[in-house]
Amino acid sequence: MTRVFNFSPGPATLPTEVLESVQAELLDYESSGISMLEHSHRGAQYSAVHAEAKALFKELLAIPDTHEVLFMQGGASGQNALLPMNFLPEGKSADYVDTGTWSVKSFKAANKLAKARWAGSGKAGDRYVKAPLDLELDNDAAYVHITSNSTIMGTQYHEYPATQAPLVADMSSDLLWRPLDVSKFGLIYAGAQKNVGPAGVTIVIADKSFIASARDEVPNIWSYKFFLEKDSLGNTAPTFPIYVVSRVLRWVKDNGGAAGMQARNQKKADTLYGVIDGAPDFFRTPIEKASRSVMNVVCNLPNADLEKKFVADAAAAGLVNTKGHRSVGGLRLSIYNAMSQEGVDKLAQFMTDFQKANA
Ligand SMILES: *Cc1c(COP(=O)(O)O)cnc(C)c1O
Repeated sequence: MTRVFNFSPGPATLPTEVLESVQAELLDYESSGISMLEHSHRGAQYSAVHAEAKALFKELLAIPDTHEVLFMQGGASGQNALLPMNFLPEGKSADYVDTGTWSVKSFKAANKLAKARWAGSGKAGDRYVKAPLDLELDNDAAYVHITSNSTIMGTQYHEYPATQAPLVADMSSDLLWRPLDVSKFGLIYAGAQKNVGPAGVTIVIADKSFIASARDEVPNIWSYKFFLEKDSLGNTAPTFPIYVVSRVLRWVKDNGGAAGMQARNQKKADTLYGVIDGAPDFFRTPIEKASRSVMNVVCNLPNADLEKKFVADAAAAGLVNTKGHRSVGGLRLSIYNAMSQEGVDKLAQFMTDFQKANA
Protein backbone atom coordinates (compact mmCIF):
# COMPACT_ATOMS: atom_id res chain seq x y z
CA MET A 1 0.00 0.00 0.00
CA THR A 2 1.26 3.49 -0.86
CA ARG A 3 -0.31 6.62 0.59
CA VAL A 4 0.57 9.84 -1.23
CA PHE A 5 0.40 13.39 0.11
CA ASN A 6 -3.01 14.78 -0.81
CA PHE A 7 -3.25 18.58 -1.15
CA SER A 8 -6.91 18.48 -2.21
CA PRO A 9 -9.14 21.39 -1.15
CA GLY A 10 -11.87 18.93 -0.12
CA PRO A 11 -12.81 16.29 0.60
CA ALA A 12 -9.35 16.52 2.05
CA THR A 13 -6.68 14.42 3.65
CA LEU A 14 -7.50 12.83 7.01
CA PRO A 15 -4.98 11.81 9.69
CA THR A 16 -3.64 8.35 8.90
CA GLU A 17 -4.09 7.36 12.56
CA VAL A 18 -7.79 8.17 12.28
CA LEU A 19 -8.24 6.09 9.14
CA GLU A 20 -6.42 3.21 10.80
CA SER A 21 -8.54 3.34 13.93
CA VAL A 22 -11.74 3.48 11.85
CA GLN A 23 -10.50 0.49 9.86
CA ALA A 24 -9.60 -1.44 12.98
CA GLU A 25 -13.10 -1.17 14.46
CA LEU A 26 -15.11 -1.15 11.22
CA LEU A 27 -16.55 -4.66 11.44
CA ASP A 28 -17.07 -4.95 15.17
CA TYR A 29 -17.53 -1.67 17.02
CA GLU A 30 -16.43 -1.94 20.66
CA SER A 31 -17.33 -5.65 20.86
CA SER A 32 -20.95 -4.97 19.90
CA GLY A 33 -20.66 -7.44 17.01
CA ILE A 34 -21.87 -4.84 14.49
CA SER A 35 -20.30 -1.89 12.69
CA MET A 36 -20.79 1.75 13.59
CA LEU A 37 -22.26 1.92 10.08
CA GLU A 38 -25.04 -0.37 11.30
CA HIS A 39 -25.76 1.05 14.73
CA SER A 40 -29.03 2.82 15.50
CA HIS A 41 -28.81 6.56 15.87
CA ARG A 42 -30.71 6.08 19.14
CA GLY A 43 -28.61 3.19 20.46
CA ALA A 44 -26.06 3.32 23.29
CA GLN A 45 -22.98 3.08 21.08
CA TYR A 46 -23.90 5.90 18.72
CA SER A 47 -25.31 8.07 21.52
CA ALA A 48 -21.88 7.98 23.17
CA VAL A 49 -20.21 8.98 19.88
CA HIS A 50 -22.67 11.85 19.36
CA ALA A 51 -22.09 13.14 22.88
CA GLU A 52 -18.32 12.80 22.55
CA ALA A 53 -18.18 14.69 19.24
CA LYS A 54 -20.16 17.55 20.76
CA ALA A 55 -18.14 17.55 23.97
CA LEU A 56 -14.85 17.60 22.08
CA PHE A 57 -15.89 20.58 19.94
CA LYS A 58 -16.88 22.39 23.15
CA GLU A 59 -13.60 21.53 24.83
CA LEU A 60 -11.29 22.20 21.86
CA LEU A 61 -12.89 25.54 20.95
CA ALA A 62 -13.75 26.52 24.55
CA ILE A 63 -17.34 27.05 23.42
CA PRO A 64 -19.24 29.08 26.03
CA ASP A 65 -22.56 27.88 27.53
CA THR A 66 -24.37 30.51 25.46
CA HIS A 67 -23.61 28.46 22.32
CA GLU A 68 -24.50 24.97 21.16
CA VAL A 69 -23.08 22.52 18.62
CA LEU A 70 -25.46 21.12 15.99
CA PHE A 71 -24.89 18.38 13.43
CA MET A 72 -26.84 19.03 10.26
CA GLN A 73 -26.79 17.91 6.60
CA GLY A 74 -26.79 19.65 3.24
CA GLY A 75 -23.27 21.04 3.52
CA ALA A 76 -22.31 24.68 3.64
CA SER A 77 -24.54 25.11 0.59
CA GLY A 78 -27.49 23.97 2.67
CA GLN A 79 -26.59 26.50 5.35
CA ASN A 80 -26.55 29.23 2.73
CA ALA A 81 -30.25 28.53 2.19
CA LEU A 82 -31.16 27.86 5.82
CA LEU A 83 -29.78 31.17 7.03
CA PRO A 84 -32.27 33.36 5.12
CA MET A 85 -35.10 30.84 5.69
CA ASN A 86 -34.58 31.05 9.43
CA PHE A 87 -33.31 34.56 10.04
CA LEU A 88 -34.49 36.82 7.22
CA PRO A 89 -38.16 37.66 7.62
CA GLU A 90 -39.80 39.86 5.03
CA GLY A 91 -38.73 43.47 5.28
CA LYS A 92 -35.33 42.66 6.77
CA SER A 93 -32.02 42.45 4.99
CA ALA A 94 -28.68 40.81 5.76
CA ASP A 95 -25.14 42.03 5.05
CA TYR A 96 -22.71 39.86 3.08
CA VAL A 97 -18.99 40.38 2.50
CA ASP A 98 -17.62 39.49 -0.93
CA THR A 99 -14.44 37.42 -0.69
CA GLY A 100 -14.97 35.37 -3.81
CA THR A 101 -16.83 32.35 -5.16
CA TRP A 102 -18.26 30.92 -1.95
CA SER A 103 -19.39 34.26 -0.57
CA VAL A 104 -21.10 35.01 -3.90
CA LYS A 105 -22.95 31.69 -3.65
CA SER A 106 -23.98 32.52 -0.09
CA PHE A 107 -25.21 35.94 -1.20
CA LYS A 108 -27.17 34.57 -4.15
CA ALA A 109 -28.84 31.90 -2.02
CA ALA A 110 -30.00 34.58 0.43
CA ASN A 111 -31.11 36.94 -2.30
CA LYS A 112 -33.31 34.25 -3.79
CA LEU A 113 -35.42 34.03 -0.66
CA ALA A 114 -35.02 37.46 0.87
CA LYS A 115 -32.86 40.55 0.69
CA ALA A 116 -29.08 40.46 0.91
CA ARG A 117 -26.78 43.44 0.39
CA TRP A 118 -23.04 43.65 -0.12
CA ALA A 119 -21.25 45.34 2.78
CA GLY A 120 -17.68 45.05 1.55
CA SER A 121 -15.37 43.35 -0.88
CA GLY A 122 -11.89 41.86 -0.95
CA LYS A 123 -11.58 42.42 -4.67
CA ALA A 124 -8.92 44.56 -6.39
CA GLY A 125 -9.05 44.52 -10.17
CA ASP A 126 -10.00 41.03 -11.28
CA ARG A 127 -8.59 39.21 -8.24
CA TYR A 128 -9.56 38.83 -4.62
CA VAL A 129 -6.56 40.00 -2.62
CA LYS A 130 -7.73 40.43 0.96
CA ALA A 131 -10.21 39.67 3.72
CA PRO A 132 -11.68 43.14 4.18
CA LEU A 133 -12.36 44.71 7.58
CA ASP A 134 -13.42 48.08 6.15
CA LEU A 135 -17.12 47.31 5.84
CA GLU A 136 -20.17 49.50 5.32
CA LEU A 137 -22.57 47.78 7.62
CA ASP A 138 -26.30 48.24 7.92
CA ASN A 139 -27.02 48.46 11.65
CA ASP A 140 -30.48 47.00 11.06
CA ALA A 141 -29.10 43.95 9.28
CA ALA A 142 -30.50 40.61 10.48
CA TYR A 143 -26.90 39.32 10.45
CA VAL A 144 -23.53 39.93 8.85
CA HIS A 145 -22.11 37.07 6.79
CA ILE A 146 -18.42 36.43 6.17
CA THR A 147 -16.48 33.52 4.70
CA SER A 148 -13.62 33.13 7.17
CA ASN A 149 -11.33 31.38 4.70
CA SER A 150 -11.74 31.80 0.98
CA THR A 151 -10.90 28.27 -0.15
CA ILE A 152 -10.63 29.14 -3.84
CA MET A 153 -9.02 32.59 -3.67
CA GLY A 154 -6.54 31.80 -0.90
CA THR A 155 -7.45 34.70 1.40
CA GLN A 156 -8.34 34.33 5.07
CA TYR A 157 -9.59 36.46 7.93
CA HIS A 158 -7.00 36.48 10.70
CA GLU A 159 -9.11 38.88 12.74
CA TYR A 160 -12.84 39.29 12.38
CA PRO A 161 -14.91 42.42 11.75
CA ALA A 162 -16.70 44.01 14.69
CA THR A 163 -20.45 44.07 14.03
CA GLN A 164 -23.62 45.17 15.80
CA ALA A 165 -25.69 42.49 14.11
CA PRO A 166 -24.92 38.81 14.80
CA LEU A 167 -21.81 37.72 12.94
CA VAL A 168 -22.30 34.59 10.82
CA ALA A 169 -19.28 32.81 9.36
CA ASP A 170 -18.87 30.10 6.78
CA MET A 171 -15.83 28.35 8.30
CA SER A 172 -15.98 25.33 6.01
CA SER A 173 -12.29 25.44 5.24
CA ASP A 174 -10.81 26.69 8.49
CA LEU A 175 -12.92 25.59 11.46
CA LEU A 176 -10.56 24.51 14.25
CA TRP A 177 -7.38 25.64 12.50
CA ARG A 178 -6.59 27.53 15.72
CA PRO A 179 -8.31 28.66 18.96
CA LEU A 180 -11.36 30.82 18.34
CA ASP A 181 -13.41 33.27 20.40
CA VAL A 182 -16.75 31.65 19.65
CA SER A 183 -18.62 34.27 21.72
CA LYS A 184 -18.06 36.79 18.89
CA PHE A 185 -20.31 34.79 16.54
CA GLY A 186 -24.04 34.39 16.21
CA LEU A 187 -23.56 31.33 14.07
CA ILE A 188 -20.64 29.40 12.56
CA TYR A 189 -21.10 26.68 9.95
CA ALA A 190 -18.78 24.30 8.18
CA GLY A 191 -19.06 21.29 5.94
CA ALA A 192 -16.85 18.76 7.71
CA GLN A 193 -14.94 17.59 4.65
CA LYS A 194 -12.14 20.16 4.67
CA ASN A 195 -10.74 20.48 8.15
CA VAL A 196 -12.66 18.25 10.57
CA GLY A 197 -13.76 15.03 8.90
CA PRO A 198 -15.44 13.39 5.92
CA ALA A 199 -18.27 14.73 3.76
CA GLY A 200 -21.82 14.16 4.99
CA VAL A 201 -22.14 16.23 8.13
CA THR A 202 -22.32 19.99 8.55
CA ILE A 203 -21.08 21.44 11.81
CA VAL A 204 -23.03 24.39 13.22
CA ILE A 205 -21.98 26.28 16.34
CA ALA A 206 -24.59 28.86 17.23
CA ASP A 207 -25.65 31.28 19.92
CA LYS A 208 -28.80 29.83 21.44
CA SER A 209 -30.40 33.26 21.73
CA PHE A 210 -29.76 33.87 18.01
CA ILE A 211 -31.44 30.55 17.25
CA ALA A 212 -34.34 31.58 19.48
CA SER A 213 -34.86 34.59 17.20
CA ALA A 214 -35.40 32.36 14.14
CA ARG A 215 -38.76 32.24 12.36
CA ASP A 216 -41.19 29.55 13.53
CA GLU A 217 -42.65 28.93 10.06
CA VAL A 218 -39.65 26.93 8.85
CA PRO A 219 -40.28 23.17 8.37
CA ASN A 220 -38.59 21.19 11.15
CA ILE A 221 -35.93 19.59 9.02
CA TRP A 222 -34.64 23.04 7.99
CA SER A 223 -35.11 24.67 11.37
CA TYR A 224 -32.20 25.47 13.69
CA LYS A 225 -34.70 25.60 16.56
CA PHE A 226 -35.73 22.01 15.86
CA PHE A 227 -32.12 20.81 15.74
CA LEU A 228 -31.32 22.60 18.99
CA GLU A 229 -34.43 21.23 20.68
CA LYS A 230 -33.77 17.66 19.50
CA ASP A 231 -30.00 17.62 20.07
CA SER A 232 -29.57 17.09 16.28
CA LEU A 233 -31.43 13.78 16.58
CA GLY A 234 -34.88 14.80 15.35
CA ASN A 235 -34.31 12.51 12.39
CA THR A 236 -31.55 10.05 11.49
CA ALA A 237 -28.24 11.85 11.98
CA PRO A 238 -25.36 11.14 9.57
CA THR A 239 -23.96 8.71 12.12
CA PHE A 240 -20.83 7.51 10.37
CA PRO A 241 -19.49 10.95 9.36
CA ILE A 242 -20.12 12.21 12.92
CA TYR A 243 -18.27 9.15 14.26
CA VAL A 244 -15.27 9.91 12.02
CA VAL A 245 -15.40 13.58 13.11
CA SER A 246 -15.27 12.41 16.75
CA ARG A 247 -12.08 10.48 15.93
CA VAL A 248 -10.54 13.48 14.13
CA LEU A 249 -11.32 15.57 17.23
CA ARG A 250 -9.60 12.98 19.45
CA TRP A 251 -6.60 13.28 17.15
CA VAL A 252 -6.67 17.09 17.43
CA LYS A 253 -6.78 16.77 21.22
CA ASP A 254 -3.87 14.32 21.20
CA ASN A 255 -1.88 16.75 19.06
CA GLY A 256 -2.05 19.80 21.26
CA GLY A 257 -5.65 20.88 20.70
CA ALA A 258 -6.49 24.06 18.80
CA ALA A 259 -3.25 25.74 19.89
CA GLY A 260 -1.30 22.71 18.69
CA MET A 261 -3.07 22.92 15.33
CA GLN A 262 -2.23 26.62 15.05
CA ALA A 263 1.49 26.03 15.66
CA ARG A 264 1.52 23.15 13.19
CA ASN A 265 -0.47 25.04 10.55
CA GLN A 266 1.53 28.25 10.86
CA LYS A 267 4.76 26.34 10.38
CA LYS A 268 3.43 24.58 7.27
CA ALA A 269 2.16 27.83 5.78
CA ASP A 270 5.43 29.62 6.56
CA THR A 271 7.29 26.84 4.76
CA LEU A 272 5.30 27.24 1.53
CA TYR A 273 5.08 31.04 1.59
CA GLY A 274 8.82 31.05 2.22
CA VAL A 275 9.33 29.27 -1.10
CA ILE A 276 6.91 31.64 -2.84
CA ASP A 277 8.57 34.77 -1.41
CA GLY A 278 11.97 33.37 -2.37
CA ALA A 279 11.01 33.35 -6.05
CA PRO A 280 8.20 35.90 -6.45
CA ASP A 281 8.65 36.20 -10.23
CA PHE A 282 8.02 32.50 -10.57
CA PHE A 283 5.44 31.85 -7.82
CA ARG A 284 3.14 34.80 -8.35
CA THR A 285 0.49 35.93 -5.94
CA PRO A 286 -1.50 39.17 -5.75
CA ILE A 287 -2.77 38.39 -2.24
CA GLU A 288 -1.92 40.86 0.51
CA LYS A 289 0.42 39.27 3.07
CA ALA A 290 -1.87 40.00 6.01
CA SER A 291 -4.72 38.11 4.32
CA ARG A 292 -2.83 35.05 3.11
CA SER A 293 -4.60 31.82 3.88
CA VAL A 294 -2.89 29.38 6.21
CA MET A 295 -5.13 26.63 4.78
CA ASN A 296 -5.06 27.10 0.99
CA VAL A 297 -1.85 28.48 -0.48
CA VAL A 298 -2.71 29.88 -3.93
CA CYS A 299 -0.30 31.11 -6.59
CA ASN A 300 0.22 31.25 -10.34
CA LEU A 301 3.29 30.26 -12.36
CA PRO A 302 4.56 32.32 -15.32
CA ASN A 303 2.32 30.48 -17.78
CA ALA A 304 -0.44 27.87 -17.99
CA ASP A 305 1.80 25.21 -19.57
CA LEU A 306 4.18 25.36 -16.61
CA GLU A 307 1.21 25.10 -14.25
CA LYS A 308 0.04 21.96 -16.04
CA LYS A 309 3.51 20.48 -15.90
CA PHE A 310 3.84 21.28 -12.19
CA VAL A 311 0.59 19.52 -11.35
CA ALA A 312 1.53 16.42 -13.39
CA ASP A 313 5.13 16.19 -12.17
CA ALA A 314 4.10 16.77 -8.56
CA ALA A 315 1.53 13.96 -8.82
CA ALA A 316 4.21 11.66 -10.24
CA ALA A 317 6.32 12.52 -7.18
CA GLY A 318 3.48 11.53 -4.80
CA LEU A 319 2.15 15.08 -4.23
CA VAL A 320 -1.40 15.00 -5.60
CA ASN A 321 -4.21 17.51 -6.17
CA THR A 322 -2.17 20.71 -6.45
CA LYS A 323 -4.18 22.23 -9.30
CA GLY A 324 -5.77 25.63 -8.66
CA HIS A 325 -9.48 26.28 -9.10
CA ARG A 326 -10.36 26.90 -12.74
CA SER A 327 -11.55 30.44 -11.94
CA VAL A 328 -8.04 31.57 -10.93
CA GLY A 329 -5.86 28.83 -12.45
CA GLY A 330 -2.40 28.22 -11.06
CA LEU A 331 -1.76 26.11 -7.99
CA ARG A 332 -3.77 25.62 -4.83
CA LEU A 333 -1.90 23.81 -2.10
CA SER A 334 -4.36 22.89 0.64
CA ILE A 335 -2.64 22.20 3.93
CA TYR A 336 -5.44 21.63 6.42
CA ASN A 337 -4.90 20.37 9.99
CA ALA A 338 -4.30 16.76 8.90
CA MET A 339 -1.52 17.55 6.40
CA SER A 340 1.85 16.75 7.95
CA GLN A 341 4.96 18.91 8.00
CA GLU A 342 6.64 15.99 6.22
CA GLY A 343 4.25 16.35 3.27
CA VAL A 344 4.73 20.11 3.20
CA ASP A 345 8.53 19.82 3.35
CA LYS A 346 8.44 17.41 0.45
CA LEU A 347 6.23 19.78 -1.53
CA ALA A 348 8.46 22.77 -0.70
CA GLN A 349 11.50 20.90 -1.95
CA PHE A 350 9.62 19.93 -5.12
CA MET A 351 8.60 23.58 -5.68
CA THR A 352 12.19 24.80 -5.28
CA ASP A 353 13.55 22.14 -7.64
CA PHE A 354 10.78 22.84 -10.18
CA GLN A 355 11.47 26.55 -10.11
CA LYS A 356 15.20 26.06 -10.61
CA ALA A 357 14.62 23.71 -13.52
CA ASN A 358 11.99 25.86 -15.24
CA ALA A 359 12.68 29.52 -14.41
C1 LIG B 1 -16.22 23.76 0.15
C2 LIG B 1 -16.87 25.01 0.60
C3 LIG B 1 -18.26 25.20 0.50
C4 LIG B 1 -19.16 24.18 -0.12
O1 LIG B 1 -19.46 23.23 0.82
P1 LIG B 1 -20.53 22.07 0.56
O2 LIG B 1 -20.40 21.31 1.84
O3 LIG B 1 -20.08 21.34 -0.66
O4 LIG B 1 -21.86 22.70 0.37
C5 LIG B 1 -18.78 26.39 0.96
N1 LIG B 1 -18.01 27.34 1.50
C6 LIG B 1 -16.68 27.19 1.61
C7 LIG B 1 -15.86 28.28 2.21
C8 LIG B 1 -16.07 26.03 1.16
O5 LIG B 1 -14.73 25.89 1.27
